[in-house]
Amino acid sequence: MKVQEIRSDFPILDDLIYLDSAATSLTPEPVLEAVLSYYRSYRANVGRGVYRQAQIADQRYRDAHLKVAGFVGGEDGTAVFTRNTTESINLVARGLDWKRGDRIVTTLLEHHSNLLPWMRLKEVGIDLEVIAPDKMGRIDLADLERAINKKTRLVAMSHLSNALGTILPAREVGRICRERGVLFLLDAAQSLPHMAVNVKDIDCDFLCFSGHKMLGPTGSGVLWIRELEDGKRNGEQRRAKGQRMSSHASKNQDSGKKLGSTELAPLLAGGGMVEDVFDDGFTFKRGYEGYEAGTPDISAGIGLGAAVDYLARIGIDEVHDHEMSLTRRLLKGLDGIGGLEVYGPGADSPVERGGVVSFGIEGLLPHEIALMLDQASNICIRSGHHCCIPLMRHLGLKHGTARASLYLYNTDEEIEKLLGNLEQIARMA
Ligand code: PMP
Repeated sequence: MKVQEIRSDFPILDDLIYLDSAATSLTPEPVLEAVLSYYRSYRANVGRGVYRQAQIADQRYRDAHLKVAGFVGGEDGTAVFTRNTTESINLVARGLDWKRGDRIVTTLLEHHSNLLPWMRLKEVGIDLEVIAPDKMGRIDLADLERAINKKTRLVAMSHLSNALGTILPAREVGRICRERGVLFLLDAAQSLPHMAVNVKDIDCDFLCFSGHKMLGPTGSGVLWIRELEDGKRNGEQRRAKGQRMSSHASKNQDSGKKLGSTELAPLLAGGGMVEDVFDDGFTFKRGYEGYEAGTPDISAGIGLGAAVDYLARIGIDEVHDHEMSLTRRLLKGLDGIGGLEVYGPGADSPVERGGVVSFGIEGLLPHEIALMLDQASNICIRSGHHCCIPLMRHLGLKHGTARASLYLYNTDEEIEKLLGNLEQIARMA
């Protein structure tokens, strides 16, 4: 991978060492150009107008959905554009037809965005079972098997921990869920931008991720929904049965459906998403349009399509290899710094991990470390609880951690600079 060539697409990096891509990535010029070209050359609303300019905007926006679905091997399913992973997960939490006593299984490793939406469902009588990871961020599959019972409807798990960097066994969990007839939601916010993720391999029902963490514009996220087993999508199936969704009873009226073929109600109802409207209700469109009520963030969606093109052109495996080489170098360097502790899989650990590295220095708060790096050398890292308060409590890390997270534009020199700074900070602490 030609990292210097890639860096020329990110002028913002000229005087900055950016090691916070797990929070949000930077944006390359081709993505910015795609966004600007929508505004400059063919701005119009989508899914509405018949004039040529509207058709061009609609086609580009539709193409972006197809590119995103293709990127995850999910051409058969529906890629819905949301604002972020958080909205994608909330859409599932709000859209499934829960029954009192239904059970959801998740882990203590989760980002708040994959925990709070499920916690809220306790109000409507849902039981939430939370599996604890070990110090390395691993979960025991036997614990998962035990946690799933007859009442379990869904397992929600992250693919790569944004706090510890650990990769979770998504494929194995997918297999268990399929065997046990349970829906599987995978939070791929931290994995998908950095490694190949294929929904067919993983066999998940819902895949949630953030466009803004994979070189796309802010305000872009995705919920990929598996195709129904009988080959019909939600709206279509509903219409086929002559059912109408009333605005206040927009719930699945078809309970007892086979698990794995799910009906998901949209989060919002309104313009652009309806097939037909009656005096007493409406039917919603098949495909992504049924879930994207109102005018969407068109430029962000088109920009996300350009981000997918960009990553595909470089090759996601190349991106992954580059990041893993940097990660190994970083872990090895951190291992040699006295008073510094890595949280999660370290230099000698066989545990599978990504390029998110958490650490602490004795005698310093994580925020102090981050501020010192910023002031001394323009190095941007994240510090704090990383939206994982229950996990931090579980690990006894009251103030959280300092976290460096890598991406395709980072270099060996930047890692060396970070290590040099940390060595100095640890010596002074
Ligand atoms: N899940 C994970 C694992 C994350 O790392 C993040 C973002 N840090 C989210 C969910 C939420 O993403 P967003 O802020 O884009 O909704």
